[in-house]
Amino acid sequence: MNYQHTATERFLRYVQIDTQSDPDNTAFPSSEKQKDLSRLLADELQQIGLSNAHVDEHGYVYATIPSNTNKKVPVICFCSHVDTAPDCSGTNVKPIVHQRYNGQAIVLPDDETQIITVEKYPYLKNFIGKNIITASGKTLLGADDKSGVAIIMDMANYLQTHKDIKHGAIKILFTPDEETGRGTEHVDIKKLGADFGYTLDGGECGTYEDETFSADAATITINGVIAHPGYAKGKLINAIKIAGEILDALPKNEFSPETTSGREGFVHPVKVSGIAEKASIDFIVRDFVTDNLAKHEARLKAIAQNMIDQYPGVTMDFTVKEQYRNMKDVLKNYPQVAAYAQTAYERSGLVLRNEPIRGGTDGSRLSYMGLPCANIFTGMQAIHSRHEWIAAEDMEKAVEVLVNLVQVWEENS
Ligand SMILES: [Zn+2]
Repeated sequence: MNYQHTATERFLRYVQIDTQSDPDNTAFPSSEKQKDLSRLLADELQQIGLSNAHVDEHGYVYATIPSNTNKKVPVICFCSHVDTAPDCSGTNVKPIVHQRYNGQAIVLPDDETQIITVEKYPYLKNFIGKNIITASGKTLLGADDKSGVAIIMDMANYLQTHKDIKHGAIKILFTPDEETGRGTEHVDIKKLGADFGYTLDGGECGTYEDETFSADAATITINGVIAHPGYAKGKLINAIKIAGEILDALPKNEFSPETTSGREGFVHPVKVSGIAEKASIDFIVRDFVTDNLAKHEARLKAIAQNMIDQYPGVTMDFTVKEQYRNMKDVLKNYPQVAAYAQTAYERSGLVLRNEPIRGGTDGSRLSYMGLPCANIFTGMQAIHSRHEWIAAEDMEKAVEVLVNLVQVWEENS
């Protein structure tokens, strides 16, 4: 593309705005400062000519790039999140551009113990002679997901300055609070009015994700038998101790996150709480095949029940709560979402690599809210850490993919 990209220049500005979300705050957005970036983005979208760009009361940014074709093209949404992870400070981010990276270790100046090397990050080797962006050592960078934001903004600017490129209506959505798992809580899907979506929230150049775990939470509550400890002989049955026995009875070589990979699912205790009388264990249950969740839960319940049965008078409650579902269950009904992405990657000189995510994304939630939505790379690396880095070239490649993608949708309509 013969065009001066704006993604890097935008990215360097956006990361300096502190937008860390707060998992302990139940307000929405979880931190007001996220709106600082949302307001700036709406202003900038207005400046490039998208007159309906605005921030709503929850901190979401909505904008439309109008269709410029006579064809009836499905409305495509591009989405990314403005917040950064609570795991690492996002205050006073000082981005550094390492121009024509020389392949040497990058020592971050504000904390020289923070060193980024090709040994630790082999992907970095691809960018010798290119431009790498890091933070300065005390904070994360915020490439997750301000790279996605910058890419979408650059795409909007590109399309607004290249009206000869035919495309249908394009919706832009920037969300707060993705990192707290609440990014889709107040999305107005109806107002958004899109048929299909792509989040820009992925890693290495060329990757594409349309499959996530399906996820449940399960809780075992153990009701022990209580008695005064001074006179408890032969009577008291301690719920906390039974909780410990149940945990010990879980399989040691399978069925857990520490013993599974690839397409295997697992059951994972995440919290134990209680008193002698009553104790509970919270689990997360994960699998790519949604039907397998019930099998894992039945197996877990049987292990626990088997232990409980050894203690007359002790009872157990077992509850399951749905968390999120594999977006593939929705997206398999719309193969064009992946097929057109594949064509767009190829036109950009990339081979699309589709990799299942052993986790969830905003895209999986949006898919179940009526917006079938896959995930495209931005180039972000070492996210949620002080080593976070990204190559300017990856962001520009992602812009190229999006510009090709909107044309592929138009051509096939
Ligand atoms: Zn993200």
